[in-house]
Amino acid sequence: MSDHDRKYLVHPERPPKMRYCSKCVSPMSSAAPITFDDDGICSTCKVADQRDEVDWDARMKKFKRLCERYRSKDGMNYDCVIPVSGGKDSYFQVHIMKNVLGLNPLLVTYHGNNYLPTGMENLKNMREVFGCDHIFFTPSIEVLKTMNRLGMLMMGDMNWHAHCGINTYPIRVAVETNTPLMIWGEHGFMDIGGMHSYNDFVEFTYRNRHEHDLRGFEWYDFVEAAPKFGEKLEAKDMIGFMHPSDEDMDRVGVRGIHLNNYVRWDANEHGPMMVEMYGFKESEEEFERTYRRMSNLDDMHENGIHDYLKYIKFGYGRATDHTCKDIRAGLMTREQAIEEVRIRDHVKSKDLWRWLEYVGWTEEYFDEVCDRYRDPRVWWKGENGEWVKDNLWDKE
Ligand SMILES: [Zn+2]
Repeated sequence: MSDHDRKYLVHPERPPKMRYCSKCVSPMSSAAPITFDDDGICSTCKVADQRDEVDWDARMKKFKRLCERYRSKDGMNYDCVIPVSGGKDSYFQVHIMKNVLGLNPLLVTYHGNNYLPTGMENLKNMREVFGCDHIFFTPSIEVLKTMNRLGMLMMGDMNWHAHCGINTYPIRVAVETNTPLMIWGEHGFMDIGGMHSYNDFVEFTYRNRHEHDLRGFEWYDFVEAAPKFGEKLEAKDMIGFMHPSDEDMDRVGVRGIHLNNYVRWDANEHGPMMVEMYGFKESEEEFERTYRRMSNLDDMHENGIHDYLKYIKFGYGRATDHTCKDIRAGLMTREQAIEEVRIRDHVKSKDLWRWLEYVGWTEEYFDEVCDRYRDPRVWWKGENGEWVKDNLWDKE
């Protein structure tokens, strides 16, 4: 009898063995739904390969034509709105729109009060190196703390406020300034999950925002849930998180384009390019949950405890996501990736202490709330009551 069969006998409630992509290290329990082909290769790997078949010069021409239609006729308004966090992708978006295409973009930032010092430096530097007008939206800190706690309690995600803020406030600005064209970066579910093909030219939609980015919740769900959890939150606290009405969207004709459909998107190339051209800075300190130093400097919890929650929920974290991309880019072997995942995915990172103090929770309570969100496709209880899951390096 194999160890695997023995485990089933001891734990009849354990889920079926976790399936992993045979090329990258994506698990079947991926947060973005994935499928596998007959060779065991995941849909994300397949869609990533499509980038080699696209005629990117033709795409750029198409994109230029599209943008010209939105250029302000008399120069009395902005040509587009770009939501920016100050990360390397934001730099790349502004680089293309302002310095390659010569448009006049308005930059908009959601500031969720979690910036790392280097992330803030990068954000401020954008105003200098790109010479664009830039709006910062900084919600009330009390409201943010409440939303952090409620996000954990309602869906096991303290950063819902950020997903909502980033995907809402810039749209409000587009409506308020009568600027129809919005330039987003990659479509998240193309890059992770391979949900759409590069030939679909998928644009930003309310539905994708609501169902995926916002996990099916809106501001009013938070206001409604608040009293049940002993919190106070009113509609007037949530104005920046309210999506504009259909009438307003139609009146302005707001249209959100994902740049990765028109420009070949490769974070491993864009990062160093932005360092070289515009002085973008990577983190001086190493992160615990990923080996990359250029990602998510706008939010100290994104590479930290927010990502640990993904491990709790789906059984993997950012080390898996980043190694998958690096395998696809030919920068890492699957064996090297497995080792990174083995040492990083389970780590409870030290930014947890900042977060607990910030919102006034204990570690015990945090752990208790975490356990409510463990995916039964991933986790089961071991002999001593500890949480157990399948791992890529398990020998069977
Ligand atoms: Zn894969």
